[in-house]
Amino acid sequence: MSKRRLTEKQQRTISAGKNRHSTSNDTSTLSGTVISHHGRDLIALTASGETIQCRLRQNIGSIVCGDRILYTVEDVGSADEQAVVIALGERDNLLQKTGFGSKAKAVAANIDQVVIVCALAPKPNLYLIDRYLVATENLPARPLLVINKTDLMDEASEYIVNDINAIYGDIGYRVIETSATRMNGLDELQSELDGKTSILVGLSGVGKSSLIKDLLPEIDIRIGEISVASQEGKHTTTVSSLYLIPEGGKLIDSPGVRDFTPANLERKEILNGFIELKPYRGRCKFANCTHDHEPGCAIKDALAKGEVSQQRVDSFRKMLADID
Ligand code: GDP
Ligand code: ZN
Repeated sequence: MSKRRLTEKQQRTISAGKNRHSTSNDTSTLSGTVISHHGRDLIALTASGETIQCRLRQNIGSIVCGDRILYTVEDVGSADEQAVVIALGERDNLLQKTGFGSKAKAVAANIDQVVIVCALAPKPNLYLIDRYLVATENLPARPLLVINKTDLMDEASEYIVNDINAIYGDIGYRVIETSATRMNGLDELQSELDGKTSILVGLSGVGKSSLIKDLLPEIDIRIGEISVASQEGKHTTTVSSLYLIPEGGKLIDSPGVRDFTPANLERKEILNGFIELKPYRGRCKFANCTHDHEPGCAIKDALAKGEVSQQRVDSFRKMLADID
């Protein structure tokens, strides 16, 4: 066995969020959450809300932001004092994207909510929003849509806000309008983040960092950006970071999801990811319907009747074509 698995007792400790217990050889074991990492060096949030630098043992496997860990402090009180991760907790879920060479790349773990940020500028890419939604529905986690930069709204750009509300609001997704520069809509956003672990995703330039700056005091942003010291030297952030929001909730900022294609997608998951198309599942005339041109296609009929949006069906078809 290459990876070290948690014993049932360790798993219970992590699940219960207990800070301290004794293992059989009586060293203290503590639990934490990974807030950022580089190679085998990581920073964890301890059960008491502090940050601690840890080393990952060779046999632990790979970790991502949001992972739960058990660690122990070795050589306490000496110059060599070092916190060492001894086991990883089970993951509730794992967000993965398609990385280099079409390989699945882990982004973050244990996510309750994916906050999909778009803005009036740069113009939203609705196919990208749909790809985030498919990944979110399959985690599963709750999607939340944010339209930022509403301060830029004028007659020419008003349609963006209207379209997003019409396409996504109408099928039941929560859409929040914000202006990070004017600090509008932030109370609403904060109340959706409270009590959950959320990850911010969206195109570069839509205002994710600006929203984080509004939600967090300066000091917390710096903690999240702590460069992880390792033997190769210091590495400042292009890594993912998890922040504890003072008003409630945890927020993961991951530079790796500015562009995004879900990993390991199959037809079943794609249909599962378009929530408003689920009622039509199994109602097409042909079992192998591509939902494109076939007679008796339930989705094509729904589109003709105006029951579903053209843009979403286009995304659905494109995503199916992309995996073929
Ligand atoms: P990120 O790449 O998603 O993290 O985006 P940034 O937070 O770096 O923002 C990109 C640019 O948009 C910066 O110049 C910000 O000042 C600007 N910006 C962010 N939020 C707003 C907003 O609500 N309104 C306006 N007008 N500009 C914004
Ligand atoms: Zn069909």
